[in-house]
Amino acid sequence: MEQMRKIKSTIINGHEIVRNGVLVLDEQGITVDVVPENKIDFTDYEVFDGYLVPGFVNTHCHLELSHLKNKIDTHTGIVDFVLAVQQFRNTDLEEVESAMRLAENEMIENGIVAVGDISNTSNSFNIKKENNIYYHTFLEALGFTSNRAEAVITQILQLKNQASELNLIASISPHAPYSVSRDLFQKLAAQQESVYTLHHLESLEEIMFLNEKVGDFLNLYNFFNINIDEFIPEEKSATKYWLNNFNIEKLILVHNTFLSDDAYELISEKIKNVYWCLCPNANLFIENRLPNIPSLINKGAKICIGTDSLASNHQLNILDELHSIKKNFPEISTEYLLQCASINGAEALGIEQEFGKFHIGKKNRVLRIFEDSNLRKFDLSKI
Ligand SMILES: [Zn+2]
Repeated sequence: MEQMRKIKSTIINGHEIVRNGVLVLDEQGITVDVVPENKIDFTDYEVFDGYLVPGFVNTHCHLELSHLKNKIDTHTGIVDFVLAVQQFRNTDLEEVESAMRLAENEMIENGIVAVGDISNTSNSFNIKKENNIYYHTFLEALGFTSNRAEAVITQILQLKNQASELNLIASISPHAPYSVSRDLFQKLAAQQESVYTLHHLESLEEIMFLNEKVGDFLNLYNFFNINIDEFIPEEKSATKYWLNNFNIEKLILVHNTFLSDDAYELISEKIKNVYWCLCPNANLFIENRLPNIPSLINKGAKICIGTDSLASNHQLNILDELHSIKKNFPEISTEYLLQCASINGAEALGIEQEFGKFHIGKKNRVLRIFEDSNLRKFDLSKI
């Protein structure tokens, strides 16, 4: 008879938390059942004192920036960070490729099974087509002057064609409110992608610029030689500027470090399906500050987790992101955080039929997580 594996533990199974349940796997590791405590009518199970979690979803990464690991100083603030990325960005393609491979291996080792990945080029397509991890590629559009909008769309659609020829899942998305013109926002919305993503309120400078057209961002436009004459703040609101021009159904907002209650309300009223992606280690790296995560949770926000890139992080490790949240906000429950890192991320990317829970009949990755006081101990070795 086939040898089943039965493990009793706290099972983070999508939106359900099964305490003292048993996960039943067949010889190939395919999920046979998740049995709740009161239905267990067998005794031949092993006990694991921790959590069983399906593979993590990294909702925000930039694989093609992996070669920038350890190249950029911490706590510089966003303006100097962007300038430094620009300085190191163009490197020999071979170096870029081997850094991406290392980064992908690191993600696999750290239990990541699916990634929402931002791309500005096709550099990562060769690796992605190997399907070692599930990738949803967000092809990122930038263009702050409206007369460029048409050309930007044409260019990004070419990149999208290239991706679909390789059978990659790819959609187009705006970069950030301060780098996308009203026209470009409108043209991107007209593409009717099933999900969009946007870098959002990562710095105070972003708010100052969009509200009042002042602050350090003026230096950025100057450096990149971008004419900002046409930009007029919209009702002195960093949010209304993009929201009024971006009529879409589903959006993953990334960072949200300087999110206000007002901005949260405006966005939630206008867009049906919003996911709030937190990248705490990148926020600590660049700004040395975190979003008000307890307040987001109290509002009932759907939260998911990203690592951002190795340009602004020392590792691509979702558990380490959760650790940073837990360290700063110990009151947030571990079980909830593990759901943010699995089912919420899967739903954000629209892949909850494959990932984010233990799907019966499917071979989902099983992560075994011990909780010490730091939520740090993590063992993948035995399953
Ligand atoms: Zn990013």
